[in-house]
Amino acid sequence: MIIVMNTRASEAQIDRVQKKLEEWGFGTHYSQGVERTIIGVIGPKKPGIMEFIEAMEGVDKVVPILQPFKLASREFQSKTSQVNVGNLVFGGTKVVIIAGPCAVENEAQMMETAMMVKKAGASMLRGGAFKPRTSPYAFQGLEEEGLKILDNVRKEVGIPFVTEVVNPRDVDLVARYADMFQIGARNMQNFTLLKEVGKTKKPVILKRGLSATIEEWLMAAEYILSEGNFQVVLCERGIRTYETSTRNTLDLSAIPSIHRLSHLPVLADPSHGTGKRHLVAPLSKAAVAAGADGLLIEVHPDPESALSDGPQSLNFDAFEALLTEMMPIATAVGREI
Ligand code: PEP
Ligand code: MN
Repeated sequence: MIIVMNTRASEAQIDRVQKKLEEWGFGTHYSQGVERTIIGVIGPKKPGIMEFIEAMEGVDKVVPILQPFKLASREFQSKTSQVNVGNLVFGGTKVVIIAGPCAVENEAQMMETAMMVKKAGASMLRGGAFKPRTSPYAFQGLEEEGLKILDNVRKEVGIPFVTEVVNPRDVDLVARYADMFQIGARNMQNFTLLKEVGKTKKPVILKRGLSATIEEWLMAAEYILSEGNFQVVLCERGIRTYETSTRNTLDLSAIPSIHRLSHLPVLADPSHGTGKRHLVAPLSKAAVAAGADGLLIEVHPDPESALSDGPQSLNFDAFEALLTEMMPIATAVGREI
């Protein structure tokens, strides 16, 4: 439920409400507007509580949140959240472009890619050091050595990076290096991992699970938020359907659906969403037109020799051309690239 305090509510009245909620074992989240304080209350329903609180001094009204996801819902927070990574803003006017290879392979590959994607207009670098591969025999990533490479590249090129964490025990390690965590599709419902990143203060990209409904995805985000980390950005990366001509089916309707249901910013990943290089540009444009707050695009200096996801990776020229072509689309929907 949400407690809307009176515009004239005093500090003491707000404190009394807070104490009462604590006594009953509820968690609280404060949102201090210009005019009034709104208190989001988290915890199992108890009979009679809403009526009791509504009668307390300083309380204007108590509104139940009808969705099963509470902190992630638009009912809880009507304004779109802005998630900051340094001076980069997710959920603002700018469409944030994140680009880089699927996996960190070596320092030269990352250095070259970082310089190029930055020059073309990307504001964040991506690259997996821990790779959740379908086959145990496929390249699994360089692990900490990969994080060190990303760290060197960030220092040299001056671009922040996002990288995947696949295991709760690696959260601290990845947090020491990365500007932002990525939780991949396969781990969307790894609740132990979600809780671990929820305990940190680091921004997180939470990808949609391969077969997850929008509600399951928002419930996964709720795990992170309920641990106190509100720096969550969602990412639509395609879902399993009967269609086999693409790797996944990029669910573009998820973008405006999320915007309606949740205040969290949402990105699109047309690389994993299609698995096919020739589909990355048209679906990037469509995602921006549908209101995506950013794009995650796989770019490799030589896609044919990539250790993972080469068939869906763009080379530098294709990436640069895409950003130029996307500009008028962003302008048409009131955004910037
Ligand atoms: C990735 O971003 O490289 C990745 C593995 O993505 P997903 O979890 O969406 O498959
Ligand atoms: Mn990949």
